[in-house]
Amino acid sequence: MEREALLYETLPGGRVRCHVCQWRCLVNPGKLGVCRMRINRDGTLYAMNYAEVSSMAGDHIEKKPLFHFFPGTFAFSLGSWGCNFHCKGCQNWEISCADIPPRSQQLLPEREIELARRYDCQGIAWTYNEPAVWFEYTLDSARLAKENNLYTVYVTNGYATPEALDMIGPWLDAWRVDVKGFSDGFYRKLAGISRWQGILEVARRAKEKWDMHVEVVTNIVPGMNDDEEQLRGIAGWIRDALGELTPWHVTRFHPLHEFTHLSATPVSTLERAYGIGKEAGLRFVYLGNVPGHEYEDTVCYSCGKTVVRRIGYDTRVVGLDGSQCKFCGAGLNFRMR
Ligand code: SF4
Repeated sequence: MEREALLYETLPGGRVRCHVCQWRCLVNPGKLGVCRMRINRDGTLYAMNYAEVSSMAGDHIEKKPLFHFFPGTFAFSLGSWGCNFHCKGCQNWEISCADIPPRSQQLLPEREIELARRYDCQGIAWTYNEPAVWFEYTLDSARLAKENNLYTVYVTNGYATPEALDMIGPWLDAWRVDVKGFSDGFYRKLAGISRWQGILEVARRAKEKWDMHVEVVTNIVPGMNDDEEQLRGIAGWIRDALGELTPWHVTRFHPLHEFTHLSATPVSTLERAYGIGKEAGLRFVYLGNVPGHEYEDTVCYSCGKTVVRRIGYDTRVVGLDGSQCKFCGAGLNFRMR
């Protein structure tokens, strides 16, 4: 369903410029933006995917992954169609690279909240595809979710503009952002993005200006972003910009989409990334997509005791008192009810 878009400016000649994400597309009449979800109709920009849902499920919050945010709860998780990145190894390419199909389901925000409650979820996560290209819907939904005492999560590539962040900031609790690599060459090769540093600025703003809970994910693709320089760059940036208590998830890549010729990430590479994160001073580095690995657990950096045990999505909180270690009182940067 179509809604007039937010955050665009009209220009001479019926052209418009969209300011939802950092592409800041200049869209001619009758044309689409890079995400293929916004169309210029006679000088007015429309979001075509309002309330169009490609997938929904009650997911463990750990699946996002968010490890320090309401551990053990379920998030009602939804995705739409389209994306502003076209990553070659995308895990969700069937929805992110697709147009809206004729049989797409529609779910208005009021019904979304009802379903979240019915499925016993404590919050809502916009995920599976990039939520910023679904901006108008996620904004309406986030407002309603907060009125209904549900937490709200963006699982994002981080390419939204500061203006978009500031518009949704009052109603968003968590910014689960990908920092996919740390070089111009990598972002250009993976997703065709040249000004990727804007992702870092917006993530910092989410934390500093809006006090969002931020966790960072790097999916490590063999031969692409597994070099020391990029991994050290990401770890150092997290420490300096977001703080040493920010969780960093280094996750295993599985060959998909245009990257089927690559192999899955060796666990030893993920363990090396873990070591790099720890050396940089990060207190919480986690391995992802390796169920049962000891680096899925949260261990208190101060007393060394395990405070959250995880095997895959099975989560047991065994040593937290609010956001603190119940054994020694150290602050561990958890958001809990
Ligand atoms: S959301 Fe991003 S990709 Fe889509 S039209 Fe706007 S600026 Fe372009």
